[in-house]
Amino acid sequence: DIYGRDRRNSRGFNRHVENHLHPLLSTLRRWDSHQWHAGPVIGGQKREEGERKPAYAPFDQSQQVGTVYWANESLAREALDIASRGFPRWNETPVEERARCLERYADLMETHMEELMAICAREAGKTMQDGIDEVREALDFCRYYANQGRSRFAEAIKLPGPTGESNELYLEGRGVFVCISPWNFPLAIFTGQIMAALVSGNTVIAKPAEQTSLVAHRALELMLEAGFPGDVVQFLPGDGAKLGGALIPDQRVSGVAFTGSTYTARRINRMLAERDGPIVPLIAETGGQNAMIVDSSALPEQVIRDVVQSAFASAGQRCSALRVLYVQKEVADRMENLLAGTMQELSVGDPRLHSTDVGPVIDDEARQGLQKHLDDMERCGRAISRTPLPPIAQRGFFIPPSAYGINSIHDLEEEHFGPILHIVRYEAEKLDEVIDEINNAGYGLTLGIHSRSERTAAYIEQRVKVGNAYINRNQIGAVVGVQPFGGRGLSGTGPKAGGPHYLLRFATERSRTNNT
Ligand code: GLU
Repeated sequence: DIYGRDRRNSRGFNRHVENHLHPLLSTLRRWDSHQWHAGPVIGGQKREEGERKPAYAPFDQSQQVGTVYWANESLAREALDIASRGFPRWNETPVEERARCLERYADLMETHMEELMAICAREAGKTMQDGIDEVREALDFCRYYANQGRSRFAEAIKLPGPTGESNELYLEGRGVFVCISPWNFPLAIFTGQIMAALVSGNTVIAKPAEQTSLVAHRALELMLEAGFPGDVVQFLPGDGAKLGGALIPDQRVSGVAFTGSTYTARRINRMLAERDGPIVPLIAETGGQNAMIVDSSALPEQVIRDVVQSAFASAGQRCSALRVLYVQKEVADRMENLLAGTMQELSVGDPRLHSTDVGPVIDDEARQGLQKHLDDMERCGRAISRTPLPPIAQRGFFIPPSAYGINSIHDLEEEHFGPILHIVRYEAEKLDEVIDEINNAGYGLTLGIHSRSERTAAYIEQRVKVGNAYINRNQIGAVVGVQPFGGRGLSGTGPKAGGPHYLLRFATERSRTNNT
């Protein structure tokens, strides 16, 4: 069915089962000193030209991971020429054939899971659990969109009309889609955007994040191996502002899928608005200032487990991550004590180790910005806990998981994309003020609620304007087809990734009337 309720996500991998874990660990070790090389891929051809940049592991700046050739504007124009010429044929290719390419690509990723996990760890600092989840989500996107494509595009919808006239409505691709993906889900979101565009009949120009071109390039090689024709997907690693500036104003671009900052989404929106020619969609998934509200009826141990996961997993580098925890005053001391104790137990360090809970942040710019915020919080916030860093932290970009008391979400001017949690104490009679405060911050991505009162949970859930609400659990790790993901307001345009309406924005509709 179109909601995909008759399909299954991949099983993933249980790293807590010893005889699964050991083979995985030993295969991962084989990739420990491998060097990957990436560069633009145009019309299926690898292009080794342009500026060549070394890539280093964010957890250890002395470890090189590979090299990347950055594309320039003239390659961007070449990519556009090929993608726009390739569109009509791909759009006419039966959706069944397109969907099979997605499935073959998913199968290939599954057989290359260890290598992909190893690049995620060494290039993006992803822990083992994050690497498993990353590959798994990428596969799930492929299989989900393949099925969505079949149910949406395979047949025209027959509509009523007078005798002798046949009326039909069908979907088709729009043209060339530019897909701009983030470094925090360098395989899953990279894959999700591209596969949604391709199965819908578009051709794609993929622009991976500067920090994570290697894993994206490896994924692209697998796409070509899976049978996607070379003129259907173009790959341009490099400077976002330069390449975006060369591509987006071009009238041949028929849509943009972007995940990243609200600031960049606005810039893209402005570029699209100011160009002549067709008016085309921008699908933007941006940041959040995500809150969790915990009342006095909540179960403390469950709250702490979910808070720690939501705030510190992936070093807080998820747009869904918990940033501001609202705790009812009566239970705040107890919750903070429990949290402080748990945070002392977190293990920060080399993401390739099975025991590591929190890895590095992505690069030095991120580290510096977060460190400045920590310094500000040391001055103006109430320090609650800070996880100790191991000595290896000096070799890379680490930020200690930290928690501070603040007065309101409005004390924060922007999203701090890292493992820093802010806690606000509230009085039960002022719950409405808390809800207003969260809404007035303008974002609308995720919300956590912990309460054993169903009425309170429902009251909060209905009033806070967000895309994804989670009651009595953590608020990260949306599962494809289960928790379609995406926000509103400053957090993005929708439609939700991994949801039944996502492909519709990549498509255009045609109605056909035939008076036979
Ligand atoms: N879908 C992810 C989650 O639910 C977040 C995606 C992102 O950070 O862009 O945690």
